[in-house]
Amino acid sequence: MAKPDSVGISLPKPYCSACGHDLTGAVTASACPECGRPLVEVLTRGGASVRAVRTAIGVAISLAVTALLVVILLTTGAIP
Ligand SMILES: [Zn+2]
Repeated sequence: MAKPDSVGISLPKPYCSACGHDLTGAVTASACPECGRPLVEVLTRGGASVRAVRTAIGVAISLAVTALLVVILLTTGAIP
């Protein structure tokens, strides 16, 4: 899998959601060096959470599909 940096996407710095410790460079650690919580539970990047991003992508796709359907219906004459 390609690393995000190799495709020109800059992500916000990762940090611990439990204690706020900057987790940049801690990618090989299994736990936060500050509070000891497992990274799989606390690793967060600035701004939106992964869940929020996934929700936003889902909403965007739904809107795009709806708009596409409307365009298809209008251009095919299904709607007078
Ligand atoms: Zn921590």
